[in-house]
Amino acid sequence: MSCADQPDGQGDEAVVMPRRKRVFAREKGVCQRCRASKCLYIVRSVTMCRACFETAVRASVVKALHPPLLPADARSAQPFPRPSGGDVLVALSAGAGSSALADLVSERYIGREGRELARGQREPVWARGWAVHVDFSGVTGLESRAPLLDKLAEERGLRFVCVRAEDAFDPLLRRRVAALAGVGGVDGAEGEGVVVRLDEPDLPLLEAPSSSTATPLESLQALLASLPPPSRPALLSHILDGLLGVVAQALPNITHLLIGETSTREAQRVIAGTATGRGWALPVELAAAAPLPRAGRTIMRIKAMKNVSLKEAAIWCHGRGVQTYNERRWDGTGGGARRDARGKGATASIEALTERFIAGLNVSHPSTVTTINKTGDKLCFVGDANSAPLCPVCQLPVDASATDWKARSALTSLPGKGDGVAAAPSPDPLAPLLCYACLTMFTPLTAAQKDRPTAEPVPLPLWVGARVQERRHVTPQELRDEVAQFLIDDDEEGV
Ligand SMILES: [Zn+2]
Ligand SMILES: [Zn+2]
Repeated sequence: MSCADQPDGQGDEAVVMPRRKRVFAREKGVCQRCRASKCLYIVRSVTMCRACFETAVRASVVKALHPPLLPADARSAQPFPRPSGGDVLVALSAGAGSSALADLVSERYIGREGRELARGQREPVWARGWAVHVDFSGVTGLESRAPLLDKLAEERGLRFVCVRAEDAFDPLLRRRVAALAGVGGVDGAEGEGVVVRLDEPDLPLLEAPSSSTATPLESLQALLASLPPPSRPALLSHILDGLLGVVAQALPNITHLLIGETSTREAQRVIAGTATGRGWALPVELAAAAPLPRAGRTIMRIKAMKNVSLKEAAIWCHGRGVQTYNERRWDGTGGGARRDARGKGATASIEALTERFIAGLNVSHPSTVTTINKTGDKLCFVGDANSAPLCPVCQLPVDASATDWKARSALTSLPGKGDGVAAAPSPDPLAPLLCYACLTMFTPLTAAQKDRPTAEPVPLPLWVGARVQERRHVTPQELRDEVAQFLIDDDEEGV
């Protein structure tokens, strides 16, 4: 049947997305799940009492948390995972997602000193739990949430570690975290500090001057100030991921890192990631469970709140009396943001615009967020995520020839391009090692003089130096793969 055969009006209705289903007044009073209690919440157009709501949220968490913890051949009849033999690290941001996650997993999954198992209760998956908070208050100007989270962690039997965003520039961080856990002798494997010149198109790397007296906070502020304002949230997001990885490795015996990223935040990641050119590594970023890159030992990162929306997480926290703050204020960090002629929006990063868009969408069309996530889940990473070369900044697999692609397709102009003088290639350029999105992050928005970064080299997070070193030294596997392309197969030989 063609579109033209449809009766009048029917075709139009089919293309218009259905708006939120109305909940009828007579159904509002009673829980639609148990039909017995008075309803308190309306979630996804279903009225629920508190008990049914909590059961539904627990079921959503189990759906994301259990599969990576169960053996590959486990049958669905085996509902509760066996003890992993290690400890767990829960990332806490003070947002509703991570606070609800810490509250949920500390109930049954994490052991606590002095807590006896009740009769019939399963042994916890992790013997001990840690909570880590990355504090961005030094650059965002927001009040530090560390004291609040320390209390939240303590009440739930988790040991608390707080690191600050600027610790990405602190060579002693690993040792400091290990000392908290009572482990000595951890070497600072962050690598040599490197600085980068952002005014050159190939981003030459230089060794950090040993005479530099800049504090870690000054280093972070210098890096943020030299980036275009819309790129700053992306950098802060990489710093967050990098620091969580460093802490997970520095603490002894951690086998899993739990992230409280809600489905709402994941939908933002899909849209903003695609828009900023992160498409290549997006499937790795979205994976419900993935090993931390180059961690030395296997540490699985699990997004246990993947099936829970921000609204559900917020209701959970409200019901449990947990105070939450979802504001990150990553836009407007580093200063220097200009208001436009109408005095509106100092900075509008793609991340912030997407956040607002998804928040609006969530109200008018709640099912759209699920649809976005389902689309994101269908993405597959081409290649082997474990052995692919990593981008030194975001530590995700790098797409080949990002610089060539950008030279042909980018709408932004590269500084120095078109000046008539071909710049001499730098001895140690960073640009060819970066993924497309990180390369864009370091590129000024326009070629206008006022947007040109200063010629002053700015420091980069310490793991960048280590990753660059790693890329320079070709691993034996990479060498074998490269040589394999030139070998003639046995069956090709006779042709
Ligand atoms: Zn009910
Ligand atoms: Zn990158």
